[in-house]
Amino acid sequence: MDIKTLPLDFEKVCIEEIQASWLSEKNIGLSVLRLDKLHPVVSGNKWFKLKYYLEEALLLEKPTVATFGGAYSNHIVATAFACKAYGLQSVGIIRGEQSDVASPTLYQAESYGMQLLYVSREQFREKEKVAEQFGQFNWYWIGEGGYGSTGAKGAAEILGLANHQDYTDIVASVGTGTMLAGIIQSARESQRITGVSSLKGNFSLEQEVRDLLPMNVKQRPFRIIHDYHFGGYGKQSEDLIQFIQQVYDEHQLPLDFVYTGKLFYAIKDLVNGQYFKDNASILMIHSGGLQGNASLGKSQLSFL
Ligand SMILES: *Cc1c(COP(=O)(O)O)cnc(C)c1O
Repeated sequence: MDIKTLPLDFEKVCIEEIQASWLSEKNIGLSVLRLDKLHPVVSGNKWFKLKYYLEEALLLEKPTVATFGGAYSNHIVATAFACKAYGLQSVGIIRGEQSDVASPTLYQAESYGMQLLYVSREQFREKEKVAEQFGQFNWYWIGEGGYGSTGAKGAAEILGLANHQDYTDIVASVGTGTMLAGIIQSARESQRITGVSSLKGNFSLEQEVRDLLPMNVKQRPFRIIHDYHFGGYGKQSEDLIQFIQQVYDEHQLPLDFVYTGKLFYAIKDLVNGQYFKDNASILMIHSGGLQGNASLGKSQLSFL
């Protein structure tokens, strides 16, 4: 399918430079690739990650795509949207009981035509068994969060939207690490790649990212930082929310509390802590996810 026929706004994706004294003091440049502008609901990076999975589903003539996620999963809502765009049916296997986990994200997924099936937390852990249960339907399965080398191949196209050669450092947030794997394989060899994990103590990530790299870049160095999870995946603190509001007030940059808010917080802290060289020029990938802020409730952020 021609990507132009999709209601995604690639023209809007732009690079914005952040002006702040904590950067200029060290002569560090920070630019933000605004993938969030692709679409108000579908996270920028999710679209890229899904692309080749869906093309494969079409190629295999599977009419329905099924995947797994939690109540606040950007991956679920993005899969629903992208399947609709590709003319595919979609099924979301959701962790938890329906009455317990209703969320704006799930409503959104349903509005894109996704059929939601709820399974207990225990069942959810055994994804293979769940998939087996629906074996007779001939669905195309995508793993939770879109983890896989097919997803990374799509994410490798993200840097093509930026003139990325100019940057010494590229930083991005990390869930499954699929996006980071795509960035590593498309960055220049001299560029330093840093991922900031939104999960607490997920130290198998480094290996999981490396597993997704093609042979020719298998040994490429990258770094994942585990110090900015704010209590764990989907967790937040008053500090973080205040920080996100402050960044919006100062730079008109909207961030989400699951990924990009933690990422920006990390960047500022790492700049102050001399992680980046003086004169560095940093490209931050704003991977989207803003629809997730809906779960915070109206009073918390002015730009909801
Ligand atoms: C899903 C998501 C990520 C993480 O992507 P992975 O490929 O799973 O590491 C980062 N940012 C946003 C906004 C996301 O929605």
